[in-house]
Amino acid sequence: MTEHIQFKRHRRLRSSASMRTMVRETHLHVEDFIYPIFVIEGENIKNEVPSMPAVYQFSLDRLMEEVTEAYELGIRSLMFFGVVTDKDEVGSGAYAEDGIVQRATKMVKEKYPDILVVADTCLCEYTSHGHCGVIHGEDVDNDKSLELLAKTAVSQAKAGADIIAPSNMMDGFVAVIRKALDKAGYTHIPIMSYAVKYASSFYGPFRDAADSTPQFGDRKTYQMDPANRLEAIREAQSDVEEGADFLMVKPALSYLDIIRDVRNEFNLPVVAYNVSGEYAMVKAASQNGWIDEDKLVIEMLTSMKRAGADIILTYFAKDVAKTLSNQ
Ligand SMILES: [Zn+2]
Repeated sequence: MTEHIQFKRHRRLRSSASMRTMVRETHLHVEDFIYPIFVIEGENIKNEVPSMPAVYQFSLDRLMEEVTEAYELGIRSLMFFGVVTDKDEVGSGAYAEDGIVQRATKMVKEKYPDILVVADTCLCEYTSHGHCGVIHGEDVDNDKSLELLAKTAVSQAKAGADIIAPSNMMDGFVAVIRKALDKAGYTHIPIMSYAVKYASSFYGPFRDAADSTPQFGDRKTYQMDPANRLEAIREAQSDVEEGADFLMVKPALSYLDIIRDVRNEFNLPVVAYNVSGEYAMVKAASQNGWIDEDKLVIEMLTSMKRAGADIILTYFAKDVAKTLSNQ
């Protein structure tokens, strides 16, 4: 019946598992992941975050349990978020020498010098109002916030952080941090800029986990409008000019087009942040028995790499490391 009809036989390359593996274009590796961990003040605490099943807040005396587990699974890059009760207008906990993230960093680098600690550089976990900078009237003051952000970056580098990742979306943050790091003798420390960060509803569970919900207003005057695509290129462009070493896109799942745009426009490593809301949706569906979580997570993270990400910040890092080692 088909003898005189011309068509392509694409199914030849899908005929067996070995054939499909041979032609597979995108692969996940444990080296791709940065694993975020919440550290909380207090003792003997391992609190599950209600909206993020299997994600915990650890007190410093229990942090190494989690770090060691991640390390043994092959994960070599971590990011810490601090959860503190003592907050003030200017977020001084972010740049305190004995700040919780600084202490966590020192502790981990001492035991595992080959772990890369990526420092999230922001103020919102430490400000009483929950915004990412200094408040002036009803708005966040860009240039005053930059000073504190630079101070935070230097204190994180001093504590041993290997990469500084500024996330507060103030204009000029890469330039100011680069200058401050260089001046303090940290010319060798790279900057992973949260270059393209949207004002997203996907951050909800994180704000529970890090207790960083803004006490008034929202973050729309500094984070980007989810409807914008060209603006992402402008944001990334200025960070490249200011000296960024990595470009991050956050969130990831609903922004795969943006990841691809950034990949196509720039030649720096691209980082996708698989955020808390993306994690929570999968966990909720999984708990209801509606999806196959392991397979779905692999598919989701693979899509981020296929879109152009080189590195993925993900709460699923340990789960995927286990899945990959069983394959
Ligand atoms: Zn922030």
